[in-house]
Amino acid sequence: MEVLIVGCGLTGSIIARFLAENLNKKVIIWDRRNHIGGNMYDYYDEHGILVHKYGPHTFHTKKKELYDYICKFAEWEDYKLTCMAQIDGKFTPTPFNFQTIDDFYSEEDANDLKNRIKKVFGGRKTATVIEVLNCDDEKIRKYGEFLFEKDYSLYTAKQWGISVKEVDPSILKRVPLRFSYDIGYFDDEYQVMPKTTYVDFFKNILNHKNIEVRLGIEALDYLKIDKVKRKILVNNKVVDFPVIYTGALDELFDTCYGKLPYRSLHFEWKYENIESKQDAPVVAYPQEDKFTRITEYKKLLKQEVKGTSYAVEYPLSYDEQGDMEPYYPVLTEKSMEKYNRYLDIANTINNLYLAGRLADFKYYNMDQALERALSLCKILKDELYYMKGSKN
Ligand code: FAD
Repeated sequence: MEVLIVGCGLTGSIIARFLAENLNKKVIIWDRRNHIGGNMYDYYDEHGILVHKYGPHTFHTKKKELYDYICKFAEWEDYKLTCMAQIDGKFTPTPFNFQTIDDFYSEEDANDLKNRIKKVFGGRKTATVIEVLNCDDEKIRKYGEFLFEKDYSLYTAKQWGISVKEVDPSILKRVPLRFSYDIGYFDDEYQVMPKTTYVDFFKNILNHKNIEVRLGIEALDYLKIDKVKRKILVNNKVVDFPVIYTGALDELFDTCYGKLPYRSLHFEWKYENIESKQDAPVVAYPQEDKFTRITEYKKLLKQEVKGTSYAVEYPLSYDEQGDMEPYYPVLTEKSMEKYNRYLDIANTINNLYLAGRLADFKYYNMDQALERALSLCKILKDELYYMKGSKN
């Protein structure tokens, strides 16, 4: 083996392809799961409905070069994700837009509110909840309070496992309110889904004579770090080939500085012999006690099928017992400090490279994970260029 990669998600697979194709390296990928694709893994369930095992995934990016990259390995079709929230029993679009105002106000009050918004926010298409909550106009402010109380605070509290009182509106900056009837969850220019499956996309990336994938392998059973000598050991022997690690950084160092905090999810899978479960593929249910949202897969992937399969999503804190997955890093000053301590040692190990959502302890979307992987490829190209076996 010339390079070892831990993790066969997007990050590990892209780096493997680059090393195999551009630097002619023999690459082995280990993944503890029994499938390729990491969190993007999809499959047909027993009702013949294509579902995403780890939650709904739509690819979206503003960057043409990233879209061009994924087109090398799959055909994609345009797909604009629409989401809704159920508030007081009514479905309304998210991000909230003028339809939301129509849904919850009388015609007269709705027109008045929309006119006030146009006057106060001028030609702006969106504003953050904070701006609306701090608005001088009392009616606009009240609208912000309504949404904050009935949706944002409840949803956020459940998602992060905190009480409603602890929800700081400043963390909601990134979820805007729309001042138009536009729908669609993202504004990115490229919003696509694979024409077939994500797994096909991964098969094409990994289909190279220099790549070998070994599934069901817990890397840390074989891979250890000697923290004193700053060396990587595989099967108890020091190795000097590059190891690209896309798993959680605290696990690699045997949690010597303590565990990094993550939020996890439990998906409850259901099938019903009905035409439709809800009005959109992804619906948030902020006022429900325990679950946050439901994804109805026949709508997400526009499938003509009998009945409907959907996943009910319950957020919970991560504990590596059982079959829990570390989904969302909990980013606080304290957790970042801890992460940086791990990173400081990792950076002193010459042949260790880190990338990906877990190893970087960042909540990357797929396009960000892709961009990060491609930037590491550039570094690897420079550093591995003269090593034996490179063709360029
Ligand atoms: P991962 O996909 O997590 O892959 C890491 C791999 O490493 C895993 O397969 C894991 O099994 C393996 N591994 C870890 N440790 C070890 C070990 N010790 N030994 C062996 N193997 C190991 N992004 C979007 O752009 N659009 C979306 O709609 C979207 N929806 C999402 C919904 C949810 C619920 C979640 C959680 C994420 C979503 N994302 C979305 C983000 C997307 O999943 C990530 O950007 C992408 O999967 C990151 O790829 P990765 O390779 O870095 O990590």
